[in-house]
Amino acid sequence: MGKSLHKIIPKIDEIDYKILGVLVKNLRRFEYIPLEVIIEESGIPRDTLASILMKLAELKVIIPSSSQNPLSYKLTFTGLNLYSLKKLAERDIIKAIGVPIGVGKESVVYIAKNYKDDLVAIKFYRIGWSSFREFSRRRGYGLDLGGSTWLLRSIVAAEREYSIMKKLINIIPDKIPQIFARELNAIVMEYIDGKELHKVLGLKNPLKIFSDIIDVIREVYLKLGIIHADLSPYNILVKDPGTEHERSFIFDWPQWVDIKEASAEKILLRDLRNIVRFFEKRFNLEINLEKIYKYVVGGAETLDYR
Ligand code: ADP
Ligand code: MN
Repeated sequence: MGKSLHKIIPKIDEIDYKILGVLVKNLRRFEYIPLEVIIEESGIPRDTLASILMKLAELKVIIPSSSQNPLSYKLTFTGLNLYSLKKLAERDIIKAIGVPIGVGKESVVYIAKNYKDDLVAIKFYRIGWSSFREFSRRRGYGLDLGGSTWLLRSIVAAEREYSIMKKLINIIPDKIPQIFARELNAIVMEYIDGKELHKVLGLKNPLKIFSDIIDVIREVYLKLGIIHADLSPYNILVKDPGTEHERSFIFDWPQWVDIKEASAEKILLRDLRNIVRFFEKRFNLEINLEKIYKYVVGGAETLDYR
């Protein structure tokens, strides 16, 4: 995964970012970007560049190609993250970055501060071989993009999650983290100080949390025509669990599926089953999956869960 960003940032100068900018600009053209292109587009003299590239390689921000001919370099995920973060800072969206707070299969999430000193979460996508098989099957986007495929796929995923969250926020504003910005492979959202649902052992009102989640699935199905498609207690955070204020938030939306897709019914049932089974086991509720399904797709006006 590489070093934490907050340890690398102090070692990166403006001129380094300029080079990263050249590498980012050429992601679609090359996997490894030739030194000659970097020289030409950065305007930095060859000998100055040589020592900077060496430093960036030591920090694992870039990787030199193993073949020396032509001498060329590619950006690592750390490098892409750094550049995304730099852009977010320039746009006055992020003021400071902290430590990683969540590591998923396809991302690493950092805590950060915005310019109002509010805590925000930055999700940096880093899609790679380990996640891609499942990813392409479930998520169906981006086969061969050419150039730096994994970095580009990560940018596409961030775009996809950002744009769906912008739509979701109009429909279920209190049920997902507020979404603030996207830059390359990074999205910035509200930090939810909560506990992942699968870790929650006690709820004040399990049935209320359950029906809130079902209502979200219904709203996005009926109003936006989409299904989350990776819904599970791992993608739900509960704020203040066990208290009167307990509330749930659903996140991790990039793999959403249109309800008109052929497999939509199967995918929706899988999402619902994940939630139903969890509440049955953990909170001893008895739930009728068929009734829930009917309610979600608009075949019933009220939630009758038994
Ligand atoms: P992945 O696609 O890699 O699973 P997620 O969006 O599920 O990415 O995020 C990974 C983890 O980061 C989550 O399980 C959660 O613990 C944490 N996380 C994600 N978004 C937020 C947020 N807005 N606030 C707090 N924690 C978050
Ligand atoms: Mn997740």
